[in-house]
This record gives sequence, C-alpha cells and structure tokens, in this order.
Amino acid sequence: TISMIAMDEEGRLSAACTTSGAAWKIHGRVGDSPIIGSGLFLDSDVGAAAATGLGEAIIRTSGSAMVVELMRQGRSPQEACKEIVERIYEKHRNQPEFDYLQVGFIAMNKYGETGGYCLRKGFNYATFDKENGNKLTDAEFKI
Ligand code: ASP
Repeated sequence: TISMIAMDEEGRLSAACTTSGAAWKIHGRVGDSPIIGSGLFLDSDVGAAAATGLGEAIIRTSGSAMVVELMRQGRSPQEACKEIVERIYEKHRNQPEFDYLQVGFIAMNKYGETGGYCLRKGFNYATFDKENGNKLTDAEFKI
C-alpha cells in the first residue's frame, strides 16, 4: 500500500491510498484501501489518516476514521495512530492471524503536524515540507 496525505499552501488537505492487495488473497477480496474510513479518511475540520497492513484488521476497527476521531478529540497524530494500533493489537493478539499481522497508520492534522505508528518494527514513512525538506522516519512500533 502507498498512502499519502498532502496539505497545500492554503492549508487544504488531500489524501490518497493505493494498494496491490494482500498476498494469497481470496479471489474477489476487497481490502481496506478502497473503503473510505478504513484505509483512508479525511475530515478537513480535523485531519487525515491512512493505513497499510492487513486490511481485514483495519476494516474491523474502521482504522483511519478512528484515527481522525481521536485527533478530533485532541490527540496528536502520533498519539492517535498509536492508540488505534494498540486497539488492533488487543483485539487480535489471541487470534490465529496474529502471527502475520502488521498494520500501520500515518496521519496529519489540520495544523500540518504528522505522525506514524505500526504494530511491528519495519515500517517507515516520509515527510516533506519547505522548511525541512525530505525526511524519512522509522515509525514507532508496538512489538
Ligand atoms: N492494506 C492492503 C490490503 O489489505 C495490503 C497492503 O497494505 O499492502 O489490501
């Protein structure tokens, strides 16, 4: 999955999400990426979030919409991504798919602050702004 969130000079947010799908998926499976609220969500009053990882787990939690809701309640993008990854962790830690479960979220709020968090080590994300240029960040992770 490639997820992107952008803010223009007037502060307008946009977001996009593409996916190559999951490996060995069932024919006809629809992952999280094309489902607004799961793989991607944007509310211009608050911010945007986007996901990568096991789509079924992201869909079950309406992951990206929940990240945005937490930002609406005052969490930073980083805190919001972390809280939803931890929710997914708690819901799946005793499930058979847990061994191969990876999920990650990126988020940006309407002030241009960003965050990213994933379940397992190995996820990174890039940011760009005029002052700081390009920056690649190893996302914080749960396990
Ligand atoms: N989220 C995608 C899916 O489940 C997979 C991915 O992250 O590449 O379809």
